[in-house]
Amino acid sequence: MLTTEKASATFTATRVLERLCEADRIIAFRVEWRDDAGAVRVNRGWRVQQTNLLGPYKGGLRWDSGVDLSVLKFLAFEQAFKNALTGLPLGAAKGGADFDPAGRSEAEIERFATAFMAALAPHIGPDLDVPAGDIGVGARELGIMSRVWSRQNGGRWGGALTGKPPSLGGSAMRAEATGYGLIHFTRAMLAEIGDDPEGKRIAISGRGNVSEHAVRKAMALGAKVVTLSGRAGTWVAPDGLGADALDWLLAARGDAAGDPPAALGLRFVEGARPWAEGAAEGAEIALPCATQNELGLEDARALADGGCRLLAEGANMPLTAKAEAHLTGDGVIQAPGKAANAGGVAVSGLEMQQNAGYARWPAERVDSALREIMCDIHAALKAERAGCCTPSGGIDYRRAANVAGYRRLARAMVDAGV
Ligand code: GLU
Repeated sequence: MLTTEKASATFTATRVLERLCEADRIIAFRVEWRDDAGAVRVNRGWRVQQTNLLGPYKGGLRWDSGVDLSVLKFLAFEQAFKNALTGLPLGAAKGGADFDPAGRSEAEIERFATAFMAALAPHIGPDLDVPAGDIGVGARELGIMSRVWSRQNGGRWGGALTGKPPSLGGSAMRAEATGYGLIHFTRAMLAEIGDDPEGKRIAISGRGNVSEHAVRKAMALGAKVVTLSGRAGTWVAPDGLGADALDWLLAARGDAAGDPPAALGLRFVEGARPWAEGAAEGAEIALPCATQNELGLEDARALADGGCRLLAEGANMPLTAKAEAHLTGDGVIQAPGKAANAGGVAVSGLEMQQNAGYARWPAERVDSALREIMCDIHAALKAERAGCCTPSGGIDYRRAANVAGYRRLARAMVDAGV
């Protein structure tokens, strides 16, 4: 075992960081499909295979009009550290397309998914690269793509994708994993400062898979979620979201979403962001769960001035650099997505284990493994405290996550030689 000093000299001498920054391979492809009117559409697709040092390439697929290669490169780089932190044998990748599923019919999405996987299939497989979902790609799309992969691989059963519907071999709890894991991690952060989620007021953004399950777990622990948000604005629940309000909000589409029934204790503020609204409702905790750069300097100011003390990232890199610096200056404890939202990919890792062993674990087993992994990640960051502490002596989670993730990857890279 190398001492820390010797190890970092070895990492520098063998140019580990420089090598980690460069993806192993980037695949770019054209996706052509027909819309419901019969017109031919063309989109661009990519898969950034960042590193397979620790295991098969692993990471989600994102379909969104804002996707381009630079976004996927930063997400794949982040994924490498996140996946290393889970402690599971997972390499790292990210992929997607500049296709926006919003407003597309089910048939159009099915045709797009089929065309997308026809192009990607030769580059993935259970021991090669195992994509999952991300923004715009959920269980339904993964189920369709899993069957396309199977057809293109001589009928091999699959296991080339995770996050599949449970009927097609998906793991129990995969849908819940990222949101639940985020709350497990938040709970560990609170315990660290002698506190717990009971009665806490929480501002959450988004209303996708991560947000939904973060709300459900937070509610189960007695916290009050005061905001959720969509592209058009923010829903505010001054007394905390109830189960009925959440169900309504997840289902509401179009104009109806702006007009919640009075009985739900919910109001919609068009064009508003969840952070100022949450701060006005006394949010002590912020959980950005939508997308990158969703929380800027003004939002950070509003949150800190409103008394927010803790933030954990359900999304990947949701804070701008200025927002992060402001919150740090104000002493707000922050957990980066690569630690706090690692529950999703961790349960994907458990789905790979189940698929490889032709096994199906009950939900309780997956849930307790998820909780253990999130607590282990927290413990690993805490172990870095000596070199990674805030001016007030707390854990600098951002630095600790980078150091702990980097160390695992760097050791593997050194062991693998040049
Ligand atoms: N897209 C998720 C993430 O950002 C999950 C990836 C996976 O399950 O492979 O970590």
